[in-house]
Amino acid sequence: MIQSFQPPARTLLGPGPSDVAPSVSRALAAPTLGHLDPKLLGCMDELRGLLRPVFGTSHPATFLVSGTGTAGMEAVLANLIEPGEVVLVPVHGYFGARIAEIAARCGADVVRVDGEWGRASDPERARAALGGRQPKLVAVVHAETSTGVRQDLAPWSALAREHGALFVTDTVTSLGCIPIGVDAHHIDGAWSCTQKGLSCASGMSPVTFSPRAVERMRARSRKVQSFYLDLGLLLEYWDGAHVYHHTISSNLIYGVHEALRLIHEEGLEARFARTALVSRAACAGFEALGLELLVPATERLPQLLAVRVPEGVDDVRVRTRLLQQFDLEIGGGLGALKGKLWRVGLMGHGATRRNVLFLLATLRTCLEGEGFRPKGDGAAAADAVFGGR
Ligand SMILES: *Cc1c(COP(=O)(O)O)cnc(C)c1O
Repeated sequence: MIQSFQPPARTLLGPGPSDVAPSVSRALAAPTLGHLDPKLLGCMDELRGLLRPVFGTSHPATFLVSGTGTAGMEAVLANLIEPGEVVLVPVHGYFGARIAEIAARCGADVVRVDGEWGRASDPERARAALGGRQPKLVAVVHAETSTGVRQDLAPWSALAREHGALFVTDTVTSLGCIPIGVDAHHIDGAWSCTQKGLSCASGMSPVTFSPRAVERMRARSRKVQSFYLDLGLLLEYWDGAHVYHHTISSNLIYGVHEALRLIHEEGLEARFARTALVSRAACAGFEALGLELLVPATERLPQLLAVRVPEGVDDVRVRTRLLQQFDLEIGGGLGALKGKLWRVGLMGHGATRRNVLFLLATLRTCLEGEGFRPKGDGAAAADAVFGGR
């Protein structure tokens, strides 16, 4: 007989998914409802009310796209780009490149401006690269998970406004970890995911569209190529008429509802402060061990720390040992940074003192096993940031 699958109890400190809170796991396992059940629709309405403040918006068109973060990215780009339009995309990591790829598939004339992986992009270089062309859309990654870089949104928003372009941003790793400020930054479209800062299972993509973006979509000269991601059809389901479009996962809705409820219970500011504190402690710990961080402190994301793999240490061997002996997952590098980087996620439910001390202690053991001599006591240095006791 085949046994029921029993996943091991891991601690997930990679770039996502993050650890799911017990009450979210319970919510996910609640009885399934039909996608038009009035009780489910009520839960969805409440969920939207909980989601808006986390995005920092009052946009009515704030909801969930079925699918992971990439589905949200594709939804925003597919609805807001028409073939032949100029789209400006600064790329300083893996996910910026994904935006450029999807925009190109939407038929855009993509102005891709490549910058160094590990630093933020420079708006002045992007302005020069436009060479007088008028972009219809500017798309930037707020939290570049491949490198741990935080991109300041204000100058990009200003650049978009100067050209009368829509401004959209990837907030897949920022939602629930750091402030986004959709309204403050005049963001016309943003997408995220449920398995990083929200600490739910993956499978939904929170999105928000400004009224201006919804108008732009309605004024398109041709239909959105994707039926599944058509914003007009999705809004007919989520808003008043509740017309069937696809069978949304009620269980994921409950999970996201509970994950958002937990954020509000803790308080948005308190959650951001917790994330920042836990991250400062982790950085102090890495530095005490003698490890280097890829990104300078001024551009560093608290929720995703990119640590350089020291000379002579085997990336895969360390991560395999962490996983197999300590049930602890961290991420490796992507693209050119493969084998050179560890990516540590301190997101949502997983951003705790316990997890940071556990990681620093187990990582030290693995580093010593590789013949690396730690400079000092990482766990003690991290603990000191929390005030010792
Ligand atoms: C994780 C991630 C994505 C992709 O999300 P999926 O849920 O894996 O589809 C996109 N952008 C960024 C910045 C991410 O970190």
